[in-house]
Amino acid sequence: MSEAFHVYDTTLRDGAQQEGLNLSVADKLAIARQIDSLGVGFIEGGWPGANPKDTEFFRRAKDELQLRHAQLAAFGATRRAGAVAADDPLVAALRESGAGVVTLVAKSHIGHVEKALRTTPEENLAMVRDTVSHLRAEGQRVFLDAEHFFDGYRLDRSYALEVLRTAYEAGADVVAICDTNGGMLPEWVSDVVADALEVTGGRLGIHAHNDTGCAVANSIAAVNAGATHVQGCINGYGERTGNADLVSVVANLELKLGRQVLPDGLLRDATRVAHAVADVTNVPPASRQPYVGVSAFAHKAGLHASAIKVDPDLYQHMDPAGVGNDMRLLVSDMAGRASIELKGRELGFELSPELVKKVTARVKEMESHGYTFEAADASFELLLVEEVEGRRPSYFDVESWRVITETAPDSEAVSEATVKLLAGGARAVVTGEGNGPVNALDFALRQAIGQLYPEVVKFELIDYKVRIVDQGHGTDAVTRVLIETTDGESSWVTVGVGHNVIEASWRALVDGLTFGLRRHGA
Ligand SMILES: [Zn+2]
Repeated sequence: MSEAFHVYDTTLRDGAQQEGLNLSVADKLAIARQIDSLGVGFIEGGWPGANPKDTEFFRRAKDELQLRHAQLAAFGATRRAGAVAADDPLVAALRESGAGVVTLVAKSHIGHVEKALRTTPEENLAMVRDTVSHLRAEGQRVFLDAEHFFDGYRLDRSYALEVLRTAYEAGADVVAICDTNGGMLPEWVSDVVADALEVTGGRLGIHAHNDTGCAVANSIAAVNAGATHVQGCINGYGERTGNADLVSVVANLELKLGRQVLPDGLLRDATRVAHAVADVTNVPPASRQPYVGVSAFAHKAGLHASAIKVDPDLYQHMDPAGVGNDMRLLVSDMAGRASIELKGRELGFELSPELVKKVTARVKEMESHGYTFEAADASFELLLVEEVEGRRPSYFDVESWRVITETAPDSEAVSEATVKLLAGGARAVVTGEGNGPVNALDFALRQAIGQLYPEVVKFELIDYKVRIVDQGHGTDAVTRVLIETTDGESSWVTVGVGHNVIEASWRALVDGLTFGLRRHGA
């Protein structure tokens, strides 16, 4: 599988160039494990020898990474101008990295050779020839990244192709031609790939950046024109506008073009893997990301709800299960009764027509006060339970709460919250400190009920969003707070609304704990 077509991940090297993305060695090891579970053939780990962190990554990978599908690739440059590959310490670091493949980056743009590398076109070819053949003689498999290839091809086609030919003759298995500046469009890519294949006859790969918004399309165009090696990054990470999103590329190849490029069934892990990698990089995943975004199969049902109920395929381009995602129905004020009924069914409730009517009216009423349930499934579920069972799930009765924030010269502000409540027949008065008022309230609240419900220890607030909602009816603006809580295994979102941001946050907090306790069977 991996030999006929290479899926080559460069998240850990090129993806890590993204602004604000900083990976420790442990992060890189964790990400490599996730990407391996998707079944890709190659994972580029970084540049050993040039970057101490990457040197350590390859060292630790030998003991700590048991990859099931992928081989590691070590990235590095051809030897320095005027030197000998066998004596170049950076080439030695690649040779000794323990990686199954060395991917050498080389200049294929005459302007870069002269202005960036400051050497002659002939010496650049010699650097490619010498480095590739040295590594091959040492028993190393070699791929070559032809940097700035597309721009170089426009400027001087014969020189750009000469670089490819030189690499193949010296023993490179694959040359990935790179749209390093990301300025290409799909048709241009097709033409260049077809020409390069005809002239050189070697195996071609594609490495596309997304500056025209076409990185995925350009990768597909290259494959359709005959490339059999495709590079990209999970979640489209990369500098500027990013690299080709590897999951989109693979999903398009498999699900749209019928070309199997991953081991059987593993594409169904794509959503899980994309989100797991985002957890490690700490870059919030884009909800509208194709295939794996939480909104990728979300429908604002409204007019369409009754048809979606009959046949969801009428409104989506594929079965979301193919990439491990789910269809979601959004509960919004545009939605009618049919979508409430569907949403109820999604959450496991068969609602009678009277109940559907009641819930719909209640949602509309709350939305007119600034609530939204589209992103707050957990608050919506509590509302449904309340209507179905006649009372809102409740595990404690709050008597009062209060929070103060104090600053002193030369020290940061500290918040202190006091919560008074009744739980399990006992009264609790608990004080909690935090770096902010919501943090302090969350801490005090969980302390107050922790005796009775020890599972709240695992709950953690992982995202907090505030929006001022202008209702536009001459009334004052209100604050809407969305809080995401996790129990370490799954997460849920709750909503609170109020004129005061702390009051709105408190409501979302209480919903978050209540939902979590209900889920854990309290
Ligand atoms: Zn790149």
